[in-house]
Amino acid sequence: MDFDLTDEQKDIIKAAREFAEREFPEVAQECDREEKVPKHLWKKACELGFVGVFIPETYGGAGLGYLEHCLINEEFWRVDPGIAHFILATTFGSELILLFGTEEQKKKRLPPLVQAQTITGAAITEPDAGSDVSSVRTTAVLDGSEYVINGTKTFISNGSIANFLQVLCVTEPHARSRHDRFSVITVETDRKGFEANKLKNKLGIRASDTAEISFSDVRVPKENLVGKAGRGFQQFMVFFDHTRLHVCAEAIGLAQGAMEQAIKHVRKREQFGKPLASFQVTQFKIAEMATRIEAGRNLYQKAAWLLDQERVEPHLISMAKWYTGETAVKVTEEALQLHGGYGFIGDYNIERFYRDCKIVEIYEGTKEIEKTIIARELLGKY
Ligand SMILES: Cc1cc2nc3c(=O)[nH]c(=O)nc-3n(C[C@H](O)[C@H](O)[C@H](O)COP(=O)(O)OP(=O)(O)OC[C@H]3O[C@@H](n4cnc5c(N)ncnc54)[C@H](O)[C@@H]3O)c2cc1C
Repeated sequence: MDFDLTDEQKDIIKAAREFAEREFPEVAQECDREEKVPKHLWKKACELGFVGVFIPETYGGAGLGYLEHCLINEEFWRVDPGIAHFILATTFGSELILLFGTEEQKKKRLPPLVQAQTITGAAITEPDAGSDVSSVRTTAVLDGSEYVINGTKTFISNGSIANFLQVLCVTEPHARSRHDRFSVITVETDRKGFEANKLKNKLGIRASDTAEISFSDVRVPKENLVGKAGRGFQQFMVFFDHTRLHVCAEAIGLAQGAMEQAIKHVRKREQFGKPLASFQVTQFKIAEMATRIEAGRNLYQKAAWLLDQERVEPHLISMAKWYTGETAVKVTEEALQLHGGYGFIGDYNIERFYRDCKIVEIYEGTKEIEKTIIARELLGKY
């Protein structure tokens, strides 16, 4: 067994950390307060090659793995979760094109994403279809050479800033299996009948865009079908095996950032004539945080390493997603507790991290859904 990262991976971590530390802090509070996406930082991150590193060189990317994308996520989230999410989720949904798209779709859609020319997204969730993806109702009906799309999606990352979205639609309403009714269709957001409304007042990751979107007789050419008609549900499940690992990296990066803030605070802050760090209760808290982070990091990096070798283990990915999400929430709560009243005040970054952390237990499969996947695998096995 070899747990070492390669020299190239260590260089990526160093570069990502330096970039985030240099660029994010100056605008982090303002972006959070004003719910503003810092497009200039996305452009810089693209120029420096941090965006879409898993995209092969043939399509303009760095040709690295999903693990490397995770490492960048960790470093960016460590400094500011909202900005990190905005920058690195601009390729969210491109994995579907990479995994299932035609050569033509890859050539057309992927290069502009790493060149800061376009932003994409993946639209599954609807007002009445969240955890139960198979209850999606948005329809796409073939009319000659075009699909006509109608429906509403909600909570869509990049919904109001994306140039195109991969949308889960019902195309085969009469299929025998409930899961065979869907297809993934790319929809350009400048099509007539497409509307987006940015959702304001999010609890956290406020520097990123989330929107409700609607399709009213939106027409797209049938060439926009991604993969096979009737296989959209299954394609999205494979997609989640990739993207859930990014969320694990987000969670671990955030937890690491929160713990480091707590360590700085307890070394400096004195009560009863001593630094807080000298109390054993504080030391135990730091030890527990660090251990959880290390365990979560090992779990998700193993799953990501396996994925990059095309050895997908969905239940391991779900274990990592649940555990790292919980780690982010638990560690951040303790980190705020160690700040005492100062943690409750917006001037300190820990207050923002406390609001940001909750999302990693919700999107791309809630922690309950992840546990359901793990249990289903185990109960079917023994
Ligand atoms: C900021 C943000 C960004 C997002 N980005 C995207 C995006 O880009 N694209 C997209 O398609 N969606 C996106 N989502 C949606 C997200 O994936 C969903 O919110 C999530 O899947 C949960 O669905 P829901 O909100 O409808 O909750 P529900 O499914 O209604 O769940 C509510 C609660 O019930 C629990 N529950 C549900 N079913 C079960 C069950 N069978 N057993 C036990 N417990 C259960 C859940 O775990 C949860 O705790 C985003 C959401 C947010 C908040």
